[in-house]
Amino acid sequence: MEKLLNNIEYNYKTICENIAEAAIKSGRKPEDITFLAATKTVDVSLINHAISLGLDHIGENKVQELLSKYEGYDLAHADLHFIGHLQSNKVRQIVGKVSTIQSVDSLKLASEISRQSIKQDIDTKILIEVNVGNEESKSGVKPELLTELLYQISELPRVSVDGLMAIPPICENEQKIRGYFEIMRNMFIDISHKNIDNISMNTLSMGMSGDYKEAILEGATLVRIGSSLFGARNYN
Ligand SMILES: *Cc1c(COP(=O)(O)O)cnc(C)c1O
Repeated sequence: MEKLLNNIEYNYKTICENIAEAAIKSGRKPEDITFLAATKTVDVSLINHAISLGLDHIGENKVQELLSKYEGYDLAHADLHFIGHLQSNKVRQIVGKVSTIQSVDSLKLASEISRQSIKQDIDTKILIEVNVGNEESKSGVKPELLTELLYQISELPRVSVDGLMAIPPICENEQKIRGYFEIMRNMFIDISHKNIDNISMNTLSMGMSGDYKEAILEGATLVRIGSSLFGARNYN
């Protein structure tokens, strides 16, 4: 346990240094980049240890897992996001518990988030997940349908779009992955220029353990990091 906590501390500091370095290289400040820990399969005590080191954003993938860990998180010091695939019939269970739902890719899902937010008299922030590689197997809106979806969502009460999120295809080299990140950055900039009501482009969520430095160099404002912080995941 002691060793595990020390590893997390070492990893946390190393990642923060890498983020700061990439931020500066990309012409920004270290504090312009949000470090969100992807906490699927990770025990709450380890998550809270990372929070005690200064981590202030965490993200879960599964509704059931989030609910079972919810009472344990130190949410006085960290912001909780939902980052996984979400079914409309489960929206009710997490609205009000998470500050941001990063993985919205349909009008149906956004409408349900709006409906549940109205019921609870709160506002919910969302990101639109883009299937930047046009992969059949992946969730996310197709790039060519993004603008239309944004206009539709902009009409919904109590839900506001704060940016975009993407999980690009697995790439064999750095050049290729940077190409996908660049496509995302260009969409992010194009949309911000459209000045759509209720649609802000503050957050560009892209980059994971293997590619967060490249993502920051291409304009990510939020990176989602799991295994580089907590070690390899154990799904048992
Ligand atoms: C698990 C997960 C991550 C983090 O993956 P690592 O490669 O372990 O850093 C990021 N984003 C999402 C949506 C995830 O599910």
